[in-house]
Amino acid sequence: MACLQPLLASPIVRARPRTGEKAGREDLPVQDVTFGGIPTLSRVVRPLLGDIGKAAARLGFTWTDFRAGPTLRLFFEGRGDRFEVWIRPASVPGPALVRTRRFGVGYFGGRGSEPVVNMTLYVAAKVRKNEDRLTDDVYRRVFGGTDRPGPVVLGDVVELRPTLRCNESCPFCSTVIDEATVPDNVFADDTRATLLAIDQARERGISRLTISGGEPTLLKGLPELVAHAKGLGFNVTVQTNGLLAGRPGYFDRFGVLPDGLLLTIATSREDRLMTLSGRAGTLDTKVAAGREALRRGIALVVNHVVTAVSLDELAGFPDFLVSALQDPPRDRVSLVLSVVVPVGRAATNPWLLPRYGDVAAPMGAAVRRATELRLRVVLPLLCGVPPCVVPDVREFHEAFCQGDSASLVESVNGFVRLPACAGCAAVRVCPGVRPGYLDRYGDSEFVGIR
Ligand code: SF4
Repeated sequence: MACLQPLLASPIVRARPRTGEKAGREDLPVQDVTFGGIPTLSRVVRPLLGDIGKAAARLGFTWTDFRAGPTLRLFFEGRGDRFEVWIRPASVPGPALVRTRRFGVGYFGGRGSEPVVNMTLYVAAKVRKNEDRLTDDVYRRVFGGTDRPGPVVLGDVVELRPTLRCNESCPFCSTVIDEATVPDNVFADDTRATLLAIDQARERGISRLTISGGEPTLLKGLPELVAHAKGLGFNVTVQTNGLLAGRPGYFDRFGVLPDGLLLTIATSREDRLMTLSGRAGTLDTKVAAGREALRRGIALVVNHVVTAVSLDELAGFPDFLVSALQDPPRDRVSLVLSVVVPVGRAATNPWLLPRYGDVAAPMGAAVRRATELRLRVVLPLLCGVPPCVVPDVREFHEAFCQGDSASLVESVNGFVRLPACAGCAAVRVCPGVRPGYLDRYGDSEFVGIR
């Protein structure tokens, strides 16, 4: 799926200050140097956290110290407890109590009491509120590297975005450069750099490759990329909007065909295409791309992105698909039921985000209808609803289908745990909820699965 997240941090290289050297305004504290006493507040702690000492006192703690470095650590004492709250770049893998756009926040030590958790949540709330005020320069000097990720692997799949150009302008697009999963130089529509990234993925033992974007069919070099990856033994999927792939003869230029086509169809209604893709009159072309893929033996995965605008289509979408594809071979077609995520461009279009409570019934109906039609249906882990939204069809949730999802869940960024997650049966396979959703609708509708 398109919502893969960065797992790897950039290497951290930094110097210690010389003995006796003070950390002044321009000379920020560095790794492994502890500053005794709070008066030596750096330019990081105050813009990010404000008056943390006062907040700690309100919860019955004393803020005793902090340590800067790849992980910023704040030490507290009080109520018979000693613990630290840590803040680290979002690109560093591992679990966190709260994830914001740029950071993961958690605590260590203490007894996990409610005040300790509250202190951590307070720090996380401050981080979320202020993280954009942290300049790239300060971020780099304190946390090391940048928060732009390197190549990213999620499970056994590597996703490359060799271009960010697109021939649609979907308001629900969640692609953001910060989440792009390829090295910087691959953005320049550079086939050679993408070939190199494919080689590197192979060297790391990855066997499945998704070529995404932007719209990868805009790349002249796409057939070469596919052939190269197939030659290395990858199972290759091309993710597309179908506008070029649906033109007659498009696949003729491929010496070697991809194994799969992941085709996004956000609406089954012509009159909504302009709103949802910025292009009118393209539904037949998209459907033609799917039909042609199947005719050539390419497995087809149709990604239906549910939005508030198209929610009334959801329950009927499986019937639309089977009819549009003219009763396709069921073993070659899958249906992914995504829901718009408040990330990237979609985050600036909150009117698209449906309330999960409104999605639950039609989502359940769509899953049941798809199975009646013998379509394989998947509710995706990172771009769909959490399992607790549609617990009666939870076996179709990717979280429960994927053997290694527990390790994936620990690695993904951009989700928040809720009080409801404690004790939920899905907690090991579900990363939680996107903060953008909570900002809009709150957390009152979530109830953990028992
Ligand atoms: S309660 Fe939390 S862990 Fe459980 S399914 Fe919902 S969001 Fe996921």
